[in-house]
Amino acid sequence: MRLVILGPNGSGKGTQAKLLKDELGIPHISTGELLRAAARDGTALGREAAPMVESGGLVPDDLVLKMLDERLAAPDAAQGFILDGYPRTLSQAEALDELLTDRPLDRVIELDVADEVILQRCAARFAIEHRRDDDPEVVRSRLALYRTNIPPIIARYRQRGIVATIDGTGEIEEIFQRIRAALSK
Ligand code: AMP
Repeated sequence: MRLVILGPNGSGKGTQAKLLKDELGIPHISTGELLRAAARDGTALGREAAPMVESGGLVPDDLVLKMLDERLAAPDAAQGFILDGYPRTLSQAEALDELLTDRPLDRVIELDVADEVILQRCAARFAIEHRRDDDPEVVRSRLALYRTNIPPIIARYRQRGIVATIDGTGEIEEIFQRIRAALSK
């Protein structure tokens, strides 16, 4: 199964993607994690992208697309994948369609969580873990970017009838069961 999971930072997207990976036995491909790994490994791409990743800005499309193209060509992605963090813009959604012409997406899971809940969750996590991307100012600006960029992407996938919008509030297991139920339809 080829899936995209969409949701803002703090929506629980990464947690649900990991559960799905174990359930479905397909890789969880997070473009943010690929970029952080490339930076840790000191690759040319990692070094080029690092300043953007650290500031929370978007890494240029061509860089992310090249990295994603390579990752999706790996043998473990042949049976499917859970894509997390991509697409973030309409042009990325178009590029993804081109990349996947011979193996189109099956489903898009949109985690629906209200802004107040996102802000509360990130503030609570920031108080404990001090992750820079949970800083209230950073959360607010990334959330605004998400709310601006995501509607045309969702609309594109809705036209194909592949979107499942899932209530992302409640217990982790409860949310996971909602996703499972949606995928089995
Ligand atoms: P994430 O782990 O998804 O929050 O991503 C961390 C950072 O990696 C983002 O703030 C961006 O700087 C960069 N990044 C991840 N995915 C993309 C993407 N699809 N397009 C551009 N930049 C991205």
